[in-house]
Amino acid sequence: AFLEVFEKEALERAIHIQEKINNGTAGKLAGMIIGLKDNISYKNHQMTASSKILQGYTAVYSATVVERILAEDAIIIGRLNCDEFAMGASNETSYFGPVKNFADERKVSGGSSGGSAVAVQANLCFASLASDTGGSIRQPAAFCGVVGLKPTYARVSRYGVVAYASSFDQVGPIAKSVEDAALILEVIAGQDFYDGTSSSEPVPQYSKLLAPHIKRKIAYIEETLHSEGLDPEIKQNVLQQIEQLKADGHTVEPVSFEYLDYVVATYYILTTAEASSNLARYDGVHFGYRSPESKDLMSTYKKSRSEGFGEEVKRRIMLGTFVLSAGYYDAYYSKAQKARRLIKEKIEAILEEYDFIITPTTPTPAFNIGEEITDPVVMYLADIFTVGASLAGLPAISLPSGKNKEGLPLGLQVIGKSFKEAELLEFSTYFS
Ligand code: GLN
Repeated sequence: AFLEVFEKEALERAIHIQEKINNGTAGKLAGMIIGLKDNISYKNHQMTASSKILQGYTAVYSATVVERILAEDAIIIGRLNCDEFAMGASNETSYFGPVKNFADERKVSGGSSGGSAVAVQANLCFASLASDTGGSIRQPAAFCGVVGLKPTYARVSRYGVVAYASSFDQVGPIAKSVEDAALILEVIAGQDFYDGTSSSEPVPQYSKLLAPHIKRKIAYIEETLHSEGLDPEIKQNVLQQIEQLKADGHTVEPVSFEYLDYVVATYYILTTAEASSNLARYDGVHFGYRSPESKDLMSTYKKSRSEGFGEEVKRRIMLGTFVLSAGYYDAYYSKAQKARRLIKEKIEAILEEYDFIITPTTPTPAFNIGEEITDPVVMYLADIFTVGASLAGLPAISLPSGKNKEGLPLGLQVIGKSFKEAELLEFSTYFS
């Protein structure tokens, strides 16, 4: 799970924070031990995004989220493994090897933030900061039985976070409890001068808004429960949750979402397009790895990229370049943007009538290491329930929802209204 542990530094910081606790000046996260997904910059520390191409790169500044947790006296314990450039759903595309699930080490941890989920699952830290573009916080949280929150797009600054698909990327917490996730969000959220897309919407004190329980109106998407490839135990698990919610006085009703079959394709066209542009900066000149075979500018580009990027990242750069190319732009990229708009409008229309939408986080529990990595399309379909909220920019959380017969954790996803994380977190405590 860890690519590096900042042992000495963390111990020194712990001693310093203990003094602050003793004299009553400690911040909100005093002593909270937090791991960082290795795509979040921490000044004077290495950052690789789990890619060979960033080997040897040292961050020259800290991400805003890092500055904010440090200002509240968190202890950053190390860098956490992830899929290369956060591209994947199993943490098997990392240059540094896969992350094993702590519930069963033959199983994947989920991705792309597998290290961040396992570190919390295995009690190696209290929480982690990770990024979610299409499910990278929620899906590994589900596979590992922990809480994972993707905030509303623009709720949290992206400054200092390695860009994958800039109109989707959000930083959020992976934690043991909804309370911890709420506290961390309260610290990291809010406008940032360095991220022009970050919102000026005021930040509520999420950690103080967790009770009492209000009776809610909840929708579940009928198509998710009839979707091909949905594991029967997961279906059963969600149906049980629905019955329990009803028994406790909440209103839970089925709604139809006719675009479910299009969300994965729309997501992969748009995110690969954005990635092909964002990853152009890794050219063997500016950052990290340069091929020893480099002779002139062209060979530096070609060889450094050929040797530095892994297979999945290359596939996405090529896909993205293709969908943006002159002859195909209208057929793919521009069409996918229209599809994104339709999907967003439909989900928002559901949320005008309901407080939340619940779905399974994933169609299956954690699968075997090596099982799906050979077929990218199969792997992409693992994202079917998480990418909707990403396309719509809405906040969504994955909550532990028991285990299957094999003892593997299952996750329930709750999607909330734009910038209504307070309500989302309050409702989430129902499941704890
Ligand atoms: N599995 C998705 C992908 O590979 C999500 C990754 C993410 O959210 N960073 O794009």
